[in-house]
Amino acid sequence: MATSILEDSFKNLSVRDEITEDKKSKVKVAAIPLSEISSRLNLVKVALQNQKQTQKENAPITSPPLEAFPVPPTRKPLPQKKETSNEESTIDPKPLVCIDQPIKALHLGMFEIGKGLGKGKFGRVYLARDRESGFICALKVLNKTELQQARVEKQVRREIEIQSNLRHPNILKLYGHFHDSKRIFLILEFAGQGELYKHLRKARRFPESKAAKYIAQMTSALRYLHRKHIIHRDIKPENILVGVHGEIKLSDFGWSVHAPSNRRTTYCGTLDYLPPEMISSKNPDNSYDDKVDIWALGVLMYEFLTGEAPFEDTPVLTTRRIVKADMTIPSFVSADASDLIHKLLVVDPLKRLSLEQVELHPWIIKNCVGGGKKGTSR
Ligand code: ATP
Ligand code: MG
Repeated sequence: MATSILEDSFKNLSVRDEITEDKKSKVKVAAIPLSEISSRLNLVKVALQNQKQTQKENAPITSPPLEAFPVPPTRKPLPQKKETSNEESTIDPKPLVCIDQPIKALHLGMFEIGKGLGKGKFGRVYLARDRESGFICALKVLNKTELQQARVEKQVRREIEIQSNLRHPNILKLYGHFHDSKRIFLILEFAGQGELYKHLRKARRFPESKAAKYIAQMTSALRYLHRKHIIHRDIKPENILVGVHGEIKLSDFGWSVHAPSNRRTTYCGTLDYLPPEMISSKNPDNSYDDKVDIWALGVLMYEFLTGEAPFEDTPVLTTRRIVKADMTIPSFVSADASDLIHKLLVVDPLKRLSLEQVELHPWIIKNCVGGGKKGTSR
């Protein structure tokens, strides 16, 4: 079948090779019967049609760099977008592309591959465009051998399962996935303004109004996750992307689990965001629940406002300081913000402010009047 010939031809190629190969041999792509292509594209269409946008009606999802993609002669209109509230978007139970659906329908030939967006531990991320609809997305390419060597296949599987069932304006969407013999491809929502971490480093610290809008968006995303009994467990600026409209997109669900949990992990990342219950010797079974994300929200808020994590120190001292919530808030931080940080970074998980209470906190109310929750202009 033309398809398998096509897919076989990809097996030994990198995505970059594919771009060149594709330009040279357009015939191969054209050799697939049109009817077959369109049935495959249906999955993506379903994903796109299901997608509820939070941005203004008729605003383009994104504008790809001209040098990256030639404009196709018959570009189909992008799916209609509706103005919805965060709450509305959380009640639609339909997954975008369910893991049980015929995943063979998606394949690399469907996409034009554009510039590299970044490099992760196990592969690269590229800007990509669905050839038929013109829809822009990010294609994350993971190398199977590297995943096996690092023994993280289960983690990736969990990430795919969890993330493809999430639909919230502040959570990066996973539209679908497919694989060949060497690689796994994740079709992700394109976050047009890149990594939040880079914005924070550039700005050194965020003004309170911007920080509050981001914290409100994170709170909304976490409420949604926790309602589905999902704990993210790895909240930090490096795992947050920024959408075209300046809204944050929580990503990296590799560490997420269903709550409650006592899953032990060999934690390789920064200690700065770990809550006391995950490191304290007073909690020998390491049990924890979704309150770990509320602690991390407090750390995130502190870092947004000061440019540093609250317990940043040598690893030994950081651990000691975390278990006592030993931190100093600089005097330039407002009294309201300081109050909220103190109510989030509470050692006893049961005494931490709930997400509902965060949304009603004066610092959030004051800074997020008039729908600041959904997006923030930069
Ligand atoms: P990890 O392997 O732990 O996930 P990572 O988050 O750095 O590490 P990736 O998720 O592979 O790695 O992403 C690599 C980089 O590509 C990111 O840091 C970001 O700059 C960019 N990137 C990833 N996904 C997207 C996306 N959906 N939209 C825009 N840029 C993205
Ligand atoms: Mg990532």
